[in-house]
Amino acid sequence: FSAGVGQQGHDHLLHRLHDLQHCFLHIPPLEIAPLAAELELPISQVEAVIDFYSFFHRTPRGRIDLLFSNCTSCGDLTLMHRLCELLGVTPGITRADGAVSIDETSCLGMCDQGASALVNGRILTKLTAQHLPSLAALINAGTPLDDWPAEWFAVQDNIRQTGLLLSDNMPAGAGLRAALQGGAENLLAEIKQSGLRGRGGAGFNTSLKWQLCRAAPATPRYVVCNADEGEPGTFKDRVLLNSYATQVFEGMALCAYAIGAQHGYLYLRGEYRYLLPPLEATLNEMREANLLGANILKQPDFHFDISIVMGAGAYICGEESSLLESLEQKRGVPRVRPPFPVTHGYLGQPTVVDNVETLVAATHIAVHGGEWFRAHGTAQSAGSKVLSVSGDCTAPGIYEYPFGISVQDLLEACGGQDAQAVQVGGPSGALIGRAEFGRKLAFEDLATGGSIMVYGAQRDLLAVVRNFSHFFAHESCGFCTPCRVGTPLLRKYIDKIASGHGTPYDQAEMARLAMVVKRRSHCGLGQTAANPVLDLLERFPQVCTERLLHQDYAPFFNLDAALNTSRELTHRDDAEAHLS
Ligand code: SF4
Repeated sequence: FSAGVGQQGHDHLLHRLHDLQHCFLHIPPLEIAPLAAELELPISQVEAVIDFYSFFHRTPRGRIDLLFSNCTSCGDLTLMHRLCELLGVTPGITRADGAVSIDETSCLGMCDQGASALVNGRILTKLTAQHLPSLAALINAGTPLDDWPAEWFAVQDNIRQTGLLLSDNMPAGAGLRAALQGGAENLLAEIKQSGLRGRGGAGFNTSLKWQLCRAAPATPRYVVCNADEGEPGTFKDRVLLNSYATQVFEGMALCAYAIGAQHGYLYLRGEYRYLLPPLEATLNEMREANLLGANILKQPDFHFDISIVMGAGAYICGEESSLLESLEQKRGVPRVRPPFPVTHGYLGQPTVVDNVETLVAATHIAVHGGEWFRAHGTAQSAGSKVLSVSGDCTAPGIYEYPFGISVQDLLEACGGQDAQAVQVGGPSGALIGRAEFGRKLAFEDLATGGSIMVYGAQRDLLAVVRNFSHFFAHESCGFCTPCRVGTPLLRKYIDKIASGHGTPYDQAEMARLAMVVKRRSHCGLGQTAANPVLDLLERFPQVCTERLLHQDYAPFFNLDAALNTSRELTHRDDAEAHLS
């Protein structure tokens, strides 16, 4: 029944590149052609993939390669700079002895457990300044990672509030048994009745997605679980994959049963590599229990199995069409839509791409029925939402509430009552102030894929928005001009204002540019990249205006300082060699 299955997890180009990177600390040029030949891919495609994903490098990284998160919740770059000083390292440049390299990276999904970093692909959490001398000593001594303190690598679930999904870690197979009893049509009817909408943020109707895929004439069909949660501030899928993996895989199997698929992929973000072995162990247990594989639960016509493919540090691959490109061993560039994945998805075949939490919800609906789910939440947002809460609150972690909870109630639950602002839905969502804390978390009001970032009174919101604008400029895939050019320009304007050199003209230009990026970009990344800037200007105008210069124009850089090299070359430093 494996006919029609694409590249399996371990033979996937991304996995082979991960192996090369791990083994040689970079991708050696001489390995590229043989790899391309073995995987029957054009060399140009392999080269393009190497350049696209930030976890692959053309020049060797250090034997210890540290990447510090630069997220406003799980990042602290002062730690990175301090460690660089201790070790004599320049960020981004491997130390001459090859022992260590240090750089920054986007959010690692550890926003509920202090400052974090990746070391050779393994997560370090709760980092503080006290760790740095020991960290530097271990690195200088060449101590293997397995001999570092185990508690440094601990990742907690931090589940603070359970609800419909998290309070019931049901026995494996419960959803499948219930669904098989009623049949595929009945399962689809229950999903429809439930009103389930996609939990990744967009909120597309799940039953409609499954129906459209099932109705697509082409076969084979595929199920893809989008576990590439990369939105800064989001970490709920990490917890679902760690503690509710059976329900995630069962949700994929249920979808396969409904649409008639025989193979599925879980696309795991590269930052969660530590979850790969336990996830594969869960898959094996499910195969042994006949919950995956051929003739699932003895059904003669129900065959389905799952491969895991791991991403490599590209936020854009959380966008479903980019994810499919990445699954197809290409650069993760968003596709032109339509056609949509339900008819032309993985390998051009009908494909359902669902978020981790959506699939967990589907498993629960299969057991308890659509009515049970529909009875919670709001009219347009049925059921519950698993929220990742981080930032300036006393109890960051995972909270599950029925849709419709107000921001204020959530702040009280997490100890964030003193917040001046909350970023709902991550940087691509909405930045709101106290006047709007009465608003509801629901698709019809404040939609969120799960990220809730709390900012206390002491936070500099300009620094927050500056961080987000750097994030988007870094993560733009470069495919379309408004985003490729616009996001770095937005970053420049914010940098200029933050440095105290912005003028009212700059602010007006930034606002104009933000609308161009929002309206003209090809995919969701560009269309939302300007949201933090626009929200800041609309809801917190004083944050920018109080830093503006009272003059018409100021250059982006110090023109006189820029002439230093010329003065040195011409051995001149007289008054006429300077701009007045
Ligand atoms: Fe790529 Fe940005 Fe254009 Fe999306 S909007 S296709 S991320 S350049």
